[in-house]
Amino acid sequence: MEKFIPLSVPNFEGNEKKYVNDAVETAWVSTGGAYVSKFEKDLAKFLYVENVAVCQSGTSALHLSLIEAGVTVGDTVLVSPLTFIAAVNPVKYQHATPVFIDCDDSFCIDPIKLKAFCENECVWDGVILRYKTSPVKALVVVHVFGNMADMEAIVEVASQYSIKIIEDATEALGTFYTKGKYKGKYAGTIGDFGAFSFNGNKIITTGGGGAVTSNKSLCVDHMRFLSTQAKTDPFNYTHDEIGFNYRMTNLQAALGVAQLEELPEFIRRKLQNYARYSRLFDDSKYCTLMPFREGTRSNKWFYSLCIDKAAIKVPLRKIIELLKLTGIETRAIWGLISEQKPYKNEKTYLLEKAPYYASRIINIPCSTQITEEEIEYVALTINELLGNLANE
Ligand SMILES: *Cc1c(COP(=O)(O)O)cnc(C)c1O
Repeated sequence: MEKFIPLSVPNFEGNEKKYVNDAVETAWVSTGGAYVSKFEKDLAKFLYVENVAVCQSGTSALHLSLIEAGVTVGDTVLVSPLTFIAAVNPVKYQHATPVFIDCDDSFCIDPIKLKAFCENECVWDGVILRYKTSPVKALVVVHVFGNMADMEAIVEVASQYSIKIIEDATEALGTFYTKGKYKGKYAGTIGDFGAFSFNGNKIITTGGGGAVTSNKSLCVDHMRFLSTQAKTDPFNYTHDEIGFNYRMTNLQAALGVAQLEELPEFIRRKLQNYARYSRLFDDSKYCTLMPFREGTRSNKWFYSLCIDKAAIKVPLRKIIELLKLTGIETRAIWGLISEQKPYKNEKTYLLEKAPYYASRIINIPCSTQITEEEIEYVALTINELLGNLANE
């Protein structure tokens, strides 16, 4: 068989089949069922939080968070442009407007530029921060590729200006601080809200799915309520609010319970494989394996290679195509959201690192099943290819 090393594929080495079969055999396949509440309890225990609501996707988790944060028509929400578009689309679902603030070298929103934007571009009346006339209600902080954003600095700015923090921890389940003010705190449990995703490419998967938590347990109850059509009275079908069909199904949750059992082992492998790549790229001339934030234990979900554009003139697309011919699947980091058609007229603020990294970063194979030999092959092939391209 021809060699093919995928970027990232799910791993079902545990109780997945057993629990999903159980859900099917008992015919509890929809949003009722024991696995749904078990998955919520297991997640809450893992994250050391009181209350978690599971839902259909990370996107719906983010949408519920924005609603619960009070984001509504005409509000401003601060975001970084270097991320997956699902982190920003829910802002538009609420008819609010994103402002794109630059990222730092972690690819996450830069707290210094965030503060500068609030100070220099907005007006603070002691209660509400306004950008032009629009209330700056919330901030979506994405922990990109499992790397923790600089939460200490971000929380400081956000609390100074009463901005609600929504952590997009969809890529960062299991990342936590090992030092500092938030020592022991997991990504997604530091701000006002935390959103998680169990899409097929995430560190654990339920096929599609998500979860949301908050520092206020009652807010989680309310988001769960909204996710089940906001049914106030199950007998008379009374609805006092507009709800959504966002609840996770028991089939998804059965998969989730099994996956969560394996999460510590998945993270152990992600860390081990990162360390292997690290050694192999250590003295590479034309690329750098990007580090994760000091003082944290990242889940190291995705590995990022920064290509030296001074030496390598071809676009990332070409590198990715050439690697594909050698059986190695890689991908480019996202295009900037601020350059996408629905967003290209929105305000951007001091974008410098985001465009820099957008044209230089590729992600390399990182599945938990990848072997040591495959890692060696990937690193050697990339080093050799970049060497050839640099000499062209
Ligand atoms: C995956 C992802 C989402 C959305 O999660 P879904 O479950 O696919 O809806 C949002 N933001 C980021 C940064 C993601 O990587």
